[in-house]
Amino acid sequence: MNNTFNYQNNELFCEGVNLSAIANKIGTPTYVYSKMGMLESYREFENAFSPLNKMVCYSVKANSNISVIKLFSDTGAGIDCNSRGELFRALKSGVNSSKIIFTGVGKTEEEIRYALENNVMMLKVESFQELETINRIANEMQLVAPIAIRLNPDVDAKTHPYISTGLAENKFGIDINEGQKAFQFATSLSNLKVVGVDMHIGSQITSPLPYVDAIKKLFSFINELSKIGISIDHCDIGGGFGIDYDEEKNIDISIFAKELLPLLQQFSGKIIFEPGRFLTANSGVLLTKVLYTKSNNKKDFVIVDSAMNDFIRPTLYNAQHEIKHLKQSDKNKVTVDLVGPVCESSDFIRKNYSLPICSQKDLLAIMSVGAYGFVMSSNYNSRRRAAEVLVDGNNFKIIRNRESFEDLINGEII
Ligand SMILES: *Cc1c(COP(=O)(O)O)cnc(C)c1O
Repeated sequence: MNNTFNYQNNELFCEGVNLSAIANKIGTPTYVYSKMGMLESYREFENAFSPLNKMVCYSVKANSNISVIKLFSDTGAGIDCNSRGELFRALKSGVNSSKIIFTGVGKTEEEIRYALENNVMMLKVESFQELETINRIANEMQLVAPIAIRLNPDVDAKTHPYISTGLAENKFGIDINEGQKAFQFATSLSNLKVVGVDMHIGSQITSPLPYVDAIKKLFSFINELSKIGISIDHCDIGGGFGIDYDEEKNIDISIFAKELLPLLQQFSGKIIFEPGRFLTANSGVLLTKVLYTKSNNKKDFVIVDSAMNDFIRPTLYNAQHEIKHLKQSDKNKVTVDLVGPVCESSDFIRKNYSLPICSQKDLLAIMSVGAYGFVMSSNYNSRRRAAEVLVDGNNFKIIRNRESFEDLINGEII
């Protein structure tokens, strides 16, 4: 990784397809994904942890286009869903429900019923009240619900506070100190079958150490559980594996594996992973066009046709994504603010960024946007959401049409 986006004769390609050809045909802004890149990332991850009895479940919230979900499920991945909508997408893309995990800190009764009706592999439970609720619904449906309990191990994943999830101050999971009580309670409920223990400590984690801390805590917890006669089949260590946004490459997952394998191999059951970003982030770009450039005595601005509604990571997390000209440029570099058309000063793609001089109609690629890109887009400013395209070798196909203006008011009533 990452050889999926490369210049060939000064033109930026995705695999064998010239990105300018896509921009000219489909228009901008458009998300473009590389099938090869996604599959390579999946293989990297699989290979790194191959000695384990394991299951890799793609966390669909990173990129939930049904073609992307299908791509991973076709390779044998399980699927991690966070809402009824994600579950609906997974089922629509043909995933076998026995490979779907249903996660979420605030599942509604309707979502629980939908998951149980569809025979998902398990529901991950995040509170005592949810245990009671699932038990009651399972009883009404005359079935036994397979569940795992998500524990909050209280470790610092050393990531952006908005995507840290394993600290006691975060809303996720059941406090590990209450864990034993939760498992005892769950096993006392006759319509629940407790199959696993689960954690997910955050996202965009670039060091194995927080995982080591959390897994050690989890395993000593499992050990204590077995002393009171409760055994489990699987241990889910969540997702969160980061990427290098500056170099547009994945973190070296073999370094994680080297630290984690000796630990994880101590567990006799199955290990589940839930990577999202790692599998998709570097395999996506957002194509955008320069509308105008302007300067004042403080700044040079490049105004492009994609905005915070299309791609909110810079605004939300202060994320810094590389930006490339689709036609490799040997013009002088200038330091610019790349901004969108939305009426907010928070609408920027990148600030104080050095880029070869941009002219009107230049096409640019915002790199490493395959995760938490399109899925977080909105219609703010009544902007239509972008198209999505999947490249496979020398071919590409639209996997989501650009929204129409009629789509914008669909469901509204005068
Ligand atoms: C978001 C999430 C993931 C995926 O996180 P990444 O950082 O994209 O790998 C996995 N599991 C759970 C429970 C999540 O909420």
